[in-house]
Amino acid sequence: MNKKAIYKFCPLCRGDFETKTLVRTEPQRLVCKECGFIFYLDPKLVACTIAQTINGIVLQQRNKSPKRGQWVLPGGFVDRGETLEEAARREFFEETGLETAIKCLLGNYSYPGEANIIIVYQSDIIGGTIRPCHESMSIGEFAPEKIPWDQLAFETTRKALERYMEKNYPSDLCLQNGR
Ligand SMILES: [Zn+2]
Repeated sequence: MNKKAIYKFCPLCRGDFETKTLVRTEPQRLVCKECGFIFYLDPKLVACTIAQTINGIVLQQRNKSPKRGQWVLPGGFVDRGETLEEAARREFFEETGLETAIKCLLGNYSYPGEANIIIVYQSDIIGGTIRPCHESMSIGEFAPEKIPWDQLAFETTRKALERYMEKNYPSDLCLQNGR
């Protein structure tokens, strides 16, 4: 994170932060002027899932900014103390109403300067009924040739779907989809 201090006060003593170089090879840190507390701006983990019903790959249409109306893989932030796999299953269920069993890790995605690290699993659907939550405008099931490539919300959504297609479908089908 290169952004200037997004946190102004120490969460322990309410003292002011200053930006300091503690280790030359590491980013500058926020350090409390009063108590010396170091506020490490750690990344945030996001766990997402690609799973398919008999109708197609399950995508969620976002109902909030940014990228409202565009399509993403169902997923969300990992809670502290929760395993990545638990988070992926929980988020997928919360957002779609479908229960999943993880098959394999599809990939992980991180970007310079970005806080979020995204882990994507490939899973089987093992139960439940589709019911969108308030975070979705709708839940879509897309046959491989119907994936809305030009309406995907994030670079990770596209990259993970591309990898999934390469793994699960012949490459000539991937090419037909405009990649
Ligand atoms: Zn402090």
